[in-house]
Amino acid sequence: MSTPATTTPSHVTGAERSAHLERAIEASPGAFRALTGDRPTGPLHVGHLFGTLANRVRLQNLGVEVLVLIADYQTITDRDAPGSLRADVLGQVADYLAVGIDPERSTMFAHSQVEALNQLLLPFLSLVSVAELSRNPTVKDEFATSGASSMRALMFTYPVHQAADILFCHANVVPVGKDQLPHLELTRTIARRFNDRYSPEGSYFCEPDALLSAAPLLLGVDGTKMSKSRGNAIPLCATEDDTARLIRGAKTDPERRITYEPDRRPEVANLVLLAALCTGEDPVTVAEQVGDGGAGGLKRLVTDALNERLRPIRLARAELVKDQRYLGEVLSAGTDRAREIAERTLDEVRRLMHNVY
Ligand code: ATP
Ligand code: MG
Repeated sequence: MSTPATTTPSHVTGAERSAHLERAIEASPGAFRALTGDRPTGPLHVGHLFGTLANRVRLQNLGVEVLVLIADYQTITDRDAPGSLRADVLGQVADYLAVGIDPERSTMFAHSQVEALNQLLLPFLSLVSVAELSRNPTVKDEFATSGASSMRALMFTYPVHQAADILFCHANVVPVGKDQLPHLELTRTIARRFNDRYSPEGSYFCEPDALLSAAPLLLGVDGTKMSKSRGNAIPLCATEDDTARLIRGAKTDPERRITYEPDRRPEVANLVLLAALCTGEDPVTVAEQVGDGGAGGLKRLVTDALNERLRPIRLARAELVKDQRYLGEVLSAGTDRAREIAERTLDEVRRLMHNVY
């Protein structure tokens, strides 16, 4: 695929950029390639579904080429590779297939298997400073959450690795949650600096845009970002009873009347939004429906809406995990395709950097 030019002016905000990008994608889906991914640190949750997975499926169905990366090296930024890694990775493939990512049209792969992608990390590290990496708010936050006493160098540099994940395939749209915006900004910086230094005549890498959803930062049951590693997530594959129990324990506030006020009442607004995302209604309408029903009424509504929305995904996933061999085949076909793209890019990068002897 040729490298399309940057699609959005750089002075607009994240939400405006996403709206602008949506229009450009609808007008010309074939001009876009999406890359996004997840750490295989546990089963995917509803934050993933509404923050990014639903967008991936939508882009795929619009005709955008979609690559989905299982960021297995990112698991060792704050933990050791567990014996369950293979099962976790295949479970993630099952999650992808269950939500509608189609292996005939989209490419799923784990980045540890794509050597040429990883090699891009070396030149990219030369394009950023230690001071820039030290300022990254998402890395700081994740380090604080990890509870570790010192930061592993791989955690410090993983946003640069992420730039390699995105740029190796010349992706120009990255459907992600809000926590990823600082990383995307760094990827854009790396692309720009690479072009200035090694390809001044015509930009070799495009500067990719983030595509945010209507739920760019879904909160977990404790009122902080829903994350696999915070123990506050509602997994897509949870049972209906577990979903009910998790939502019953979700943090709310003492006001009886339910309203949708994300700034003043973030935890209540988050539950309202969750129900609205499941039913396709407007959050204000959902809040009005609960009205004086209080947190109990809201939680019952959210539980029913979520269990309803997730039922087909759960049924599909339960079937998929029975065939581990098939999940492995999906991954290995995706790996072949990703390798082919990465080797081409690395050859071109070597040529631009005069590393050809
Ligand atoms: P971990 O705790 O292991 O970091 P995580 O739950 O944060 O896991 P990631 O694998 O780091 O999940 O994130 C994968 C993708 O899902 C990213 O694009 C991220 O922005 C998005 N995402 C994760 N959590 C949320 C959330 N709570 N709301 C919206 N998007 C999210
Ligand atoms: Mg994360």
